[in-house]
Amino acid sequence: MSQTVENIKPSYPLFRDEEYKENLANKKAKYEEAVDPAKIQEVFEWTTTEEYKTLNFQREALTINPAKACQPLGAVLCSLGFEKTLPYVHGSQGCVAYFRTYFNRHFKEPVACVSDSMTEDAAVFGGQKNMTAGLENAKALYKPDMIAVSTTCMAEVIGDDLNAFINNAKKAGFPQDFPTPFAHTPSFVGSHVTGWDNMFEGIARYFTLNTMEGKEPGKNGKINLVPGFETYLGNYRVIHRMLDEMGVAHTLLSDPTEVLDTPADGEFRMYAGGTTMDEVKDAPNATTTFLLQPWQLEKTKKFVEGTWKHEIPKANIPMGLEWTDEWLMKVSEVTGQPIPASLTKERGRLVDMMMDSHTWLHGKKFAIWGDPDFVMGLAKFLLEMGAEPIHILCNNANKRWAKALRSVLDKAPCGKDCEIHIGNDLWHMRSLVFTNKPDFMIGNSYGKFIQRDTLHKGQAFEVPLIRIGFPIFDRHHLHRMTTLGYEGAMYMLTTIVNSVLERLDDETRGMGTTDYNYDLVR
Ligand code: SF4
Repeated sequence: MSQTVENIKPSYPLFRDEEYKENLANKKAKYEEAVDPAKIQEVFEWTTTEEYKTLNFQREALTINPAKACQPLGAVLCSLGFEKTLPYVHGSQGCVAYFRTYFNRHFKEPVACVSDSMTEDAAVFGGQKNMTAGLENAKALYKPDMIAVSTTCMAEVIGDDLNAFINNAKKAGFPQDFPTPFAHTPSFVGSHVTGWDNMFEGIARYFTLNTMEGKEPGKNGKINLVPGFETYLGNYRVIHRMLDEMGVAHTLLSDPTEVLDTPADGEFRMYAGGTTMDEVKDAPNATTTFLLQPWQLEKTKKFVEGTWKHEIPKANIPMGLEWTDEWLMKVSEVTGQPIPASLTKERGRLVDMMMDSHTWLHGKKFAIWGDPDFVMGLAKFLLEMGAEPIHILCNNANKRWAKALRSVLDKAPCGKDCEIHIGNDLWHMRSLVFTNKPDFMIGNSYGKFIQRDTLHKGQAFEVPLIRIGFPIFDRHHLHRMTTLGYEGAMYMLTTIVNSVLERLDDETRGMGTTDYNYDLVR
């Protein structure tokens, strides 16, 4: 055997050893109804054509590689941002295993989240029993200070009423005053960003709706910030840093940076950091509330405006140069605090970096995808660098978003040829990059399969993937980076321009052929 104790190989390169190749070939020939490789190649080639693209875009009843996740996943992330809070999902345990592993793979951290494991009987008779026992068990076993409840499809399909079920559980003995905010998060509408929004609104509602007496905007001298579905931990930190440098008292409503980045010091922390319940209760007393991802927080906006009576400042996601400028000036306008010299200096450094690198990015064509605000901010930053987004895909955006993005793109000469696709998936994106080739794709890890397919067609067709987005499963620690503020723009610029230079090196290292351009200095 080629696998020995002295030399244990992982599946690659092990399965490339002769005996494994032979074994797998035998299996294929004798036991699998294998399709003729020539036929596979023929179909593959057809899937790269304009004809196939047209058919692909007529697809209605099937989603392939959707470029989004489901609502409760977002609800879980939102809940993790509150102090000693246990996310609890009313529904099937398989879904919750998926949420935990999704986050484990992205953050490389254990993620606390429980399910009340509804099975066949609950699907028929409703999940009240599961809720009653589940809340008791979750509290006794994991000792949270708050349990934030959301739902899976199964509970939604049978119409379980969380308010009634939680109240019944409390009547049956679960402590009345134990905090149990909740949100219905049906996965057959919306996406993970809607789930985040719903859960946040549920938490804000639970702690403030009936206790508004005596509360008034401006009373506590702070501003609130609602991040929305945010997986770059550096983004939470950079917002704190910029506001601290400005001397702006603030509350970040949902901050999972500690619990998703705990140190390995021998002590397991199921809970760490997070926004406190007192901070949520005090949130209506803030001067106002900034929504960092405004396209993804519609329900929150309605609640904050309607109940807290906050005039939410109109601002884009603070991503790239101009929108970070605008955001900081808006904060300055609301709080009366000037932009400090430290941020002006940081801005100057970003401008310097952009001038250093823009010649490598100018005219480069990009395909990008992700969540609405991220995609909007990234497209804006690419335009600031003179790069050309040519395909923008966002599964979970609406027509208003597409219109707003169109006007952003139309303001720059390099954005005019860009096509915007909403409600589409990554199989559509695959067709787009085959039929109108960009130089690079920017998106989550799932794009690596599009890169593989383009390479399979031939070296000249390969479209490299730059990993910025969510989820990123196949690279380590990128979730700790920053995409917001000047610092975030620096990170994105560094990542993108070095990917361009890496690609150029790949193409020019042919000895005696292309290496006349294999330069030491770029
Ligand atoms: S889409 Fe529905 S069934 Fe699938 S993981 Fe999400 S909640 Fe569960």
